[in-house]
Amino acid sequence: MRVAIFSDVHGNAVGLDASWLTKHTGRRDGSLMPVRLVVLDLDLTLWDHRNVTGLVRPFRRVDDETIEDQGEVRVTLFPGVRALLEGLRERGLIIACASWNDPQAVEEIFDLLELGHYFDHRKVEPHPHKQLTISALFAELAEGGISLAPDQVLYVDDRTLHLDAVRAAVGPIRFLQYGVDIRSLDEILRYLDRAEASPALPAGTERST
Ligand SMILES: [Mg+2]
Repeated sequence: MRVAIFSDVHGNAVGLDASWLTKHTGRRDGSLMPVRLVVLDLDLTLWDHRNVTGLVRPFRRVDDETIEDQGEVRVTLFPGVRALLEGLRERGLIIACASWNDPQAVEEIFDLLELGHYFDHRKVEPHPHKQLTISALFAELAEGGISLAPDQVLYVDDRTLHLDAVRAAVGPIRFLQYGVDIRSLDEILRYLDRAEASPALPAGTERST
């Protein structure tokens, strides 16, 4: 049975498996906790390049939104990256990135475009196993005294490839696929505000999805 929990940015009912949610959250009414942590993928989620590790450093800043590598290959932020990060900060959320990349390539882009200060946690690792990356992030937060239920986490990625493995590892975290569930980054803030305004249907209320 799938229970409609909240609406997505397009107003469509979004469901999670109720027994799964109860198992992982301990809450029997299917309610969701407000989001506290937003985990952002980088390649093709915050910028328009699919693998910045493959570029030749050192990079050069072109403008506020763009860098280029030694071969004049450019990487440009998708529209609204700074507004998104500012918006997440204004809402008091913990901001993290989880990326399959050489950490140095990402650090260089963050430095050149002055983005690094937005991220409370950077998990940039040279392997594709996001379940390990995000598990490590959860462990890091727990060490700092922050213990999150899975539904307090929103993960945004352009790929769903590792979503099942991530959810198997850390529970039913919320997920938005860039390019599919959302078409622009400002929709993340709209999703959060909508989820916050109506975090759950009344207990016992069910809708088919
Ligand atoms: Mg990506």
